Amino acid sequence: MRKKILIRAAIALCALGLIWPALYPAQKEEVQKVSHEIVKRARRITGKDRLDGVLAGRTKVLDLTYPLNAQTPYWPAPGYEPFHFEFFTSMDKEHVLSGKYCTPEHLGTHVDAPNHFEQHGVSVDKMALDDLFGYAVVINVRGKAAANPDYRISPADIQDWERRNHEIQDGSIVLAYTGWGERVGSPERYQNKDSRGVMHFPGWSTEALDFLLRARNINAIGIDTLSIDYGPSTDFAVHHKLMSAGKYGIENVAHLEQMPPRGAFLIVSPIDIQGGSGGQARIFALIE
Ligand SMILES: [Zn+2]
Repeated sequence: MRKKILIRAAIALCALGLIWPALYPAQKEEVQKVSHEIVKRARRITGKDRLDGVLAGRTKVLDLTYPLNAQTPYWPAPGYEPFHFEFFTSMDKEHVLSGKYCTPEHLGTHVDAPNHFEQHGVSVDKMALDDLFGYAVVINVRGKAAANPDYRISPADIQDWERRNHEIQDGSIVLAYTGWGERVGSPERYQNKDSRGVMHFPGWSTEALDFLLRARNINAIGIDTLSIDYGPSTDFAVHHKLMSAGKYGIENVAHLEQMPPRGAFLIVSPIDIQGGSGGQARIFALIE
């Protein structure tokens, strides 16, 4: 008898579940909102699982950093110079190995702190630590950049990514994968200067960045080229827009061809230069 009542109650609840949303679309939206929130929370838990997974061997750690040496790419402007490193002791003489190095901040895989382009922006050592962790969103514009070296990531590229994946989550670090990393071994091809000395490589558009800053709650943007602004830029509008919003950028990001479009978790760890405008960063992607 009791069982019968329970079965009837279950049938009634199921029927209500079907009829209710049709009768009250507003509530349906509310239900969708709540379930979206649950999914978001579940994703946060997955982030923690991923850290446990590193120790358990379930999570793959990918290094998105270029090694530092005399060939590492840097911004080719007056005052900048190649990475310099030398040992000042040796095992033979001092029986200990110790080196020293000299480098521009904006060389190799590095972070641009908000004070790089904004007078009142925070320096690299003052950046919020929370912002250095985030969900990796990898936007693939490789084909478009191959056809047009001056390609700029557009709002349509972001919408396309969201259609295929999901809405960009709070705390994401959005990386543009242009395929430029293939050229990194050749400064000529990486800078891609024309006969007038103007560089041609892909970058972000201000429109795409505007959408991310206005409609999504991102932590940072990055790219696998010399600059988040495209090669021919003279006003560095993307840098200004990003840094006036208090956000940071990552340049010369390595190995994006090995990244999934979504699902990886990033740890960005810039060198702690007091008052610095950026600096080399080791970037780890945790991939399940
Ligand atoms: Zn920089």
